[in-house]
Amino acid sequence: MSAISRQPSSIVLFGPPGAGKGTQAGKISQLTGKPQVSTGDMLREAVKHNTSLGKEAKEYMEAGLLVPDSIIIDLISERMKESDASGGVLFDGFPRTIAQAEELSLIANVSLVIMIQVPDEDIVERIVGRRMDPETGEIYHINFNPAPAHIESRLIQRKDDTEDTVRSRLNAYHEQTKPLSEWYGIFSDKTTMSIITVDGSGTIEQVAKAIESELGGL
Ligand code: AMP
Repeated sequence: MSAISRQPSSIVLFGPPGAGKGTQAGKISQLTGKPQVSTGDMLREAVKHNTSLGKEAKEYMEAGLLVPDSIIIDLISERMKESDASGGVLFDGFPRTIAQAEELSLIANVSLVIMIQVPDEDIVERIVGRRMDPETGEIYHINFNPAPAHIESRLIQRKDDTEDTVRSRLNAYHEQTKPLSEWYGIFSDKTTMSIITVDGSGTIEQVAKAIESELGGL
């Protein structure tokens, strides 16, 4: 993949849970040189270290609900003060509500929104079969992207990757996050921001290629 240089501006990667945002974000981050800022990863870190923020966020996450906007906005505002964010970042899983998007528009210049679309029917299967290697952070899938046999025993499943929780997460996506596609559509008409839509139902490599070709066309 060749490097694509853009001005100090940020990219938003948007899509339902299980769309492959985390996996594709890693690739886009390499391609653009922008650090990946995943609110989901930041929250899981806080939960793991049992910080006061982690304690508050945990209940929402385990119930498949969105963590309150005020917590997320504080987290992002702090993160954007770090030196590696000065050239823009790749937001993965943020914003997830219109309030978050409005706040983001005040603190960062979003030049591109990448929307990954995956039909609801595919999402439960994708999420319930997802496994993570705690040593490398690499994400696998029991059918679509199996881990090498020698690391299989150490793989873990995210606590919120169960069927019940996935249904709540999908619900939160449809009610609170999906309206952002329209919001960004209106926003992009008034700014120079671009929106690209990618079919996320293929393999990891197919989706990565589709994103790369869309990026190349900008
Ligand atoms: P993710 O890893 O992006 O799927 O996020 C896992 C969980 O963290 C979500 O189901 C939410 O409970 C919470 N979360 C992550 N990002 C956000 C956000 N931007 N706004 C609200 N909740 C979030």
